[in-house]
Amino acid sequence: MSFSTFGLSDEILRAVNERGYTEPTPIQKQAIPVVLSGADLLAGAQTGTGKTAGFTLPILHLLSERGRSNTAMPGRTPIRALILTPTRELAAQVEESVREYGKYLRLNSMTIFGGVSINPQMQRLRSRIDILVATPGRLLDHVQQRSVDLSHVEILVLDEADRMLDMGFIRDIRRILALLPKKRQSLLFSATFSEEIKTLADGMLDHPTMIEIARRNLTADTVSQKVYPVDRDKKRQLLTHLIRQHRWTQVLVFMRTKHGADRLVKQLTEDRIQALAIHGNKSQGARTRALAEFKDGGLQVLVATDIAARGLDINHLPHVVNFELPNVPEDYVHRIGRTGRAGVDGEAVSLVCVDELKLLADIEKLIKQPLLKEIVAGFEPDPKVKAEPIPNGRQQRQGQSRSHASEQPASRTKHKRTGARTDSRPSALGNRGR
Ligand code: AMP
Repeated sequence: MSFSTFGLSDEILRAVNERGYTEPTPIQKQAIPVVLSGADLLAGAQTGTGKTAGFTLPILHLLSERGRSNTAMPGRTPIRALILTPTRELAAQVEESVREYGKYLRLNSMTIFGGVSINPQMQRLRSRIDILVATPGRLLDHVQQRSVDLSHVEILVLDEADRMLDMGFIRDIRRILALLPKKRQSLLFSATFSEEIKTLADGMLDHPTMIEIARRNLTADTVSQKVYPVDRDKKRQLLTHLIRQHRWTQVLVFMRTKHGADRLVKQLTEDRIQALAIHGNKSQGARTRALAEFKDGGLQVLVATDIAARGLDINHLPHVVNFELPNVPEDYVHRIGRTGRAGVDGEAVSLVCVDELKLLADIEKLIKQPLLKEIVAGFEPDPKVKAEPIPNGRQQRQGQSRSHASEQPASRTKHKRTGARTDSRPSALGNRGR
């Protein structure tokens, strides 16, 4: 099957062709006709499946076919398609796809997210923007400033809806939904379907078509997975050893906490291994720079927390290291999904100490396979070492469903003068919504 069978415009097909895609992925095969038909969509698919093009291509087609709306009020921007994402990085990535696939069309797109000054965004919003990709918190800042008009939105996309709820965005999403026209097309993408997601879908979708794509990493055979049992205090030396021995040049390393990520970067730098961290406490500029350097191959090691890395699309990433196992087994699947994408072989290794054996068992249960264990000479675990509780882990934070509390800055600080918040990430513990 080729992309030409969908009836997408020649301009879009040309851009897809230039991108080098020859055949639509399974999610694209199912989602594109549904979106083109104008129906609402509830799609179970995670990053790495090609879902972005799955909604971007038909949206571009529909908007360009329908022509531009002329109902704009002076000084306001009538947004025609609104795409909401949980993180800034994902927003930037999605908008990059919109621009690339839409480069031969006369549609304008823009991304807005927190962590950067709001004024340049307000300036740009004065020009015509057809497709807006936004994180919820900053979008509401613009609503409050009256710099954005959502009353003409024809198509709404909630991307990675499950992660948005995990991050405490439900109230923001509901507020945004209330600002949109009742008559619109809505698409909801989520990797998982909790009761909360189902309730949200019930409220925002009208007789949706449902599609579900198998969770890729649970079956992906392009990723080789391995566990290196090691003592807690030897992990850092083992990581350095592995990087040097195998001459790894591009490694994404996962940590549970921001603090841990910063400490590891410091230690790797002392080992003369070039490393930078991305997490919620880093400025947007620092995160963008680190990611760009890493993507270009100029940075050897990128150390990330789960939320910061969610949805990152790094072409042909060869190595993912779980320096610490995640508290939530599903996050293991998300993490290793950063490698072995689109048919390219990848390697995911986990450094596991005695404290993490329960987490490892949970992961093996989820992926329904035992992971290969290999002890590295010189790093044999000491059998006398006793397990200790994991800081910020499940043992300590009862009643918390996800592992990201330690990563969330409570950074909804109000600026007195502008009323603008600095970030769109609420704390998962209590500072939910606003
Ligand atoms: P996504 O799940 O949207 O983040 O996409 C994952 C990766 O698959 C991205 O690098 C896309 O560029 C790539 N991709 C999307 N559609 C196709 C396709 N039809 N053929 C090959 N690669 C694709």
